[in-house]
Amino acid sequence: MGRKFFVGGNWKCNGTTEDVKKIVSTLNAGELPSTDVVEVVVSPPFVFLTTVKSELRPEIQVAAQNCWVKKGGAFTGEVSAEMLANLGVPWVILGHSERRALLQETNEFVGDKVAYALSQGLKVIACVGETLEQREAGTTMEVVAAQTKAIADKISCWDDVVLAYEPVWAIGTGKVASPGQAQEVHAGLRKWFEENISAEVAATTRIIYGGSVSGSNCKELAGQQDVDGFLVGGASLKPEFIDIIKAAE
Ligand code: PEP
Repeated sequence: MGRKFFVGGNWKCNGTTEDVKKIVSTLNAGELPSTDVVEVVVSPPFVFLTTVKSELRPEIQVAAQNCWVKKGGAFTGEVSAEMLANLGVPWVILGHSERRALLQETNEFVGDKVAYALSQGLKVIACVGETLEQREAGTTMEVVAAQTKAIADKISCWDDVVLAYEPVWAIGTGKVASPGQAQEVHAGLRKWFEENISAEVAATTRIIYGGSVSGSNCKELAGQQDVDGFLVGGASLKPEFIDIIKAAE
């Protein structure tokens, strides 16, 4: 229903200047599908954002991996949404499970961050996902619905949000969700949007999958009706990221 395929590359806390140069030149040389077919966004660490933005081909956009929850000021070590907007960085990833788990970011805090980033004109890749214990306890939908609701409670427009379903047990583990498991949660989230926000938001919001996506498993995942793209960690640092982008075709 007109949801353009979206592929994000989360470089996490990786890379040297040399590594970044190599990744950028691989991406610049790669044969990519048209921007009519796929939207591609890579997310380097803050320190490399401006270099990557200026050296990367214009069809590939950049995202920050985080931003502060409100207007900048006396918040040592933080980077504000206004700063990102000022630099022309269009996207930010918020609510990544690594930040939820390691930095104790709560659902409400993530909701506040999403709302503030949107208010500053940024587009947001908002991450949700259950742990293995939560999946085994049968609470997956409950968990991702609560995470999504905490965002929905703080925003009134979903146009500039891409929702990334990233099961924690699949992130960086090599244990990818099966296409059926991904589709089941994506369809559940779309139903949640329909029942709690609107049919339009349900039909138009892109829900992408993240968690051990690779060049070899991306095609089958991309074939699922409610999988509108990917958020890729480890493989986004490698040439196979190009193959994952091509899963859009
Ligand atoms: C991520 O960190 O968002 C991610 C999906 O990582 P990986 O692809 O390495 O599992």
